[in-house]
Amino acid sequence: MRVAVVGAGPSGLYATDALASAGHSVDVIERLPVPFGLVRYGVAPDHHSIRSVRNTLEKVFLEPGVRLCAGVEVGVDVSIAELLDAYDAVVLTYGASRDRALDIPGEELQGSIAATDLVAWYCGHPDADRERIEAALAAATSVVVVGVGNVAVDVTRILVAPDERLAQTDMPQHVLDALASSSISHVHVLGRRSPAHATWTTKELRELGEFDGVDVIVDRGALEMEPASTAHMESDRVVARNVDIIREWSEHDEHVGQKSIHLHFRARPVEILGTDRVESVRVECTTIDESGSAIGTGETFDIPAQLIVRSVGYRGTPIGDVPFDSRRNVIPNDEGRVLPDTGVPIKGLYVAGWIKRGPSGIIGTNKKDAAATVASLLFDLGDEPTKGGAGIDDLLAAKGIEPIGFDGWQRIDAAEKALGATRQRDRTTLHSTDALNEAARRS
Ligand code: NAP
Repeated sequence: MRVAVVGAGPSGLYATDALASAGHSVDVIERLPVPFGLVRYGVAPDHHSIRSVRNTLEKVFLEPGVRLCAGVEVGVDVSIAELLDAYDAVVLTYGASRDRALDIPGEELQGSIAATDLVAWYCGHPDADRERIEAALAAATSVVVVGVGNVAVDVTRILVAPDERLAQTDMPQHVLDALASSSISHVHVLGRRSPAHATWTTKELRELGEFDGVDVIVDRGALEMEPASTAHMESDRVVARNVDIIREWSEHDEHVGQKSIHLHFRARPVEILGTDRVESVRVECTTIDESGSAIGTGETFDIPAQLIVRSVGYRGTPIGDVPFDSRRNVIPNDEGRVLPDTGVPIKGLYVAGWIKRGPSGIIGTNKKDAAATVASLLFDLGDEPTKGGAGIDDLLAAKGIEPIGFDGWQRIDAAEKALGATRQRDRTTLHSTDALNEAARRS
């Protein structure tokens, strides 16, 4: 078979690997000029071991029959209908790249940003809004981060990390410079429920306490657990370990003049205050009911801050006229088979990764998820005669689009390493579409 995989992130490349291992040809179609999706643009740059998954994913392009077609936007340059015509099957793995809103007053003020945008900026994503993010950072000494998941931990750590730690990453130079000159000294992290309900993982949480000169502050009251929190802690060893770390931190004293990370629990933002830009965040105290939900108490307090980062999850978006579940922000599916309201799967159309199941799990979770989708595909189509579809080369050529192949990525890779070497770094990420395109096509 000849299959199109839409999206060259981890789930797309794991699906490609499974298809290529079964002897099928795969064109991996990617909107950006570079592959690797969240591994390049989501995993924190200082998490070197997680980012090294890229070396494994890169090898997928060396398998027989696998091609990269980067710089091609499905839904704009080529439609889903054209893909279904040109290939035996199409697997959508384009992820969930949008942010979720808090829907509170003041969210539109200058200095109120989404974690997805901050992460895109510090990873060097070509679509990052540099001007807005850099203006917000330059004005901030105190920051509120909303949410207690791993993304909240990532952005908090990056905002207070020592310059030497960041210099060892592949962040673009302008990102390093902006972070080095920032005056952020206090980061307040808000969890709307108890410490037992936070979704961060232990290793990531522990890292917050590992920087010299940065205090982690937790109010002792945070550890007074309601029955639902206790039950949650007792049923999950990871949660119990996380709460132990929080307990240890609650016994620490704050040192005057040091940077600090202040973890607040049972605290949800209800309004962002300021005239033109963020000046403070109004927070309502909550209690946890027996179902584990946060209930507002009406008691509020204000945290002075010039920057608020909402880190309350990612959100998938529809593509073309493919069915979409706008409540869960995923493509409805039956074990990876795209499922419209009729209940009969669309022939040849499959889905894997975050756009299939929502934004959850670690990078490795996508391997099993992609394998399950490919198993459905092979079960459905494995014994059918192949269509002999033409692929999209002629279609793109007729539209004047020249995709970037794996050799183009190898040229970008070499250009980034060369740029890094000019400042004794292993690599410096090229952050603009023009620079990436120029490097990819350099002869
Ligand atoms: P997440 O784990 O779902 O965390 C979202 C947080 O936002 C939760 O604390 C949630 O609280 C809170 N929240 C949601 N709506 C809210 C609201 N209206 N007001 C206040 N708080 C609200 O999502 P994520 O941090 O974006 O991470 C996405 C996935 O990527 C996760 O699976 C994560 O583990 C993974 N990831 C992994 C790593 C790593 O392995 N190092 C790094 C980054 C991301 P409630 O629980 O109360 O809803």
